[in-house]
Amino acid sequence: MNPIIRIAVQKSGRLSEDSLSLIKECGIKFYNGTGKLKSTSTNFPIEFLFLRDDDIPGYVADGVADLGIVGENELVEKDKDVNVLKKLGFSKCRLSLAIPKGEEYTNIHHFQGKNIATSYPKILSDFLENQNVHAEIHEISGSVEIAPSIGLAEGICDIVSSGSTLMMNGLKEVETIFKSEAVLICNKKLDAEKLEIVDKLLFRMNAVQKGKSNKYVLLNAPNDALDKIISLIPGMRSPTILPLAQEGWSSVHSVIAEDQFWENIEELRSAGAEGILVVPIEKMVI
Ligand code: ATP
Ligand code: MG
Repeated sequence: MNPIIRIAVQKSGRLSEDSLSLIKECGIKFYNGTGKLKSTSTNFPIEFLFLRDDDIPGYVADGVADLGIVGENELVEKDKDVNVLKKLGFSKCRLSLAIPKGEEYTNIHHFQGKNIATSYPKILSDFLENQNVHAEIHEISGSVEIAPSIGLAEGICDIVSSGSTLMMNGLKEVETIFKSEAVLICNKKLDAEKLEIVDKLLFRMNAVQKGKSNKYVLLNAPNDALDKIISLIPGMRSPTILPLAQEGWSSVHSVIAEDQFWENIEELRSAGAEGILVVPIEKMVI
């Protein structure tokens, strides 16, 4: 039988959509109809297991799955021995401590001797220990935000992204204790054949990610501005320069990083560039 790798992804939730679109952007085809718990790709040696995110670190550590996509929060909380291959840049969130809105807060010692409700007892107790704060941790698996209003705890520690859920429950965020994003994890004892498939997958994921963080730029410039423009957008090796039909002008094609985009465009304009087009890149292999 040909070797095949198994990847565990979240069945439904805040990781699923981005996990599956990343895999699709890697050109990997598969069917994931509703309720399906397993699926095999039709054009890449990979099988999918659709699971609750809580189970993903354990399945990968035990070798039931070779790879997994999971939030760092869940990975650190479960404390399983796996390799992290790559940060994936989505499902970004933070784990924060929050207290009722009306209460005064000065510093972390506010929590000394208090009760805190959380679904992340390990991350929280490690943090508090580090800060020399002794608090009672109540582990609950969901709806953590209501704990203070029902008298279960004086504070909570939970995932926050915009903070609107906290606000709706009369709470305010007072400390961020952990920052998280989705990561690709891998079993520590993969054989050479499986590692070869993992490398192929990583190569594709890197190409997709690089493409997303860069843009293709085309512009027109007078020939005497070319040296300056080339120094501003050196591209992958060097920009392509093509003569325009109009004497004394050229078209310049290059690649720029998304995060330097606005700065670059302003500098290019003041160097004499005009007719600047910026185009998304689907994949980028360097
Ligand atoms: P499951 O049913 O699989 O156990 P869940 O309810 O535990 O799902 P989700 O709410 O789907 O988890 O969140 C999955 C992961 O997505 C979280 O562990 C975290 O890493 C990340 N996450 C959570 N909330 C947000 C958010 N608001 N924005 C971005 N990412 C988030
Ligand atoms: Mg979960």
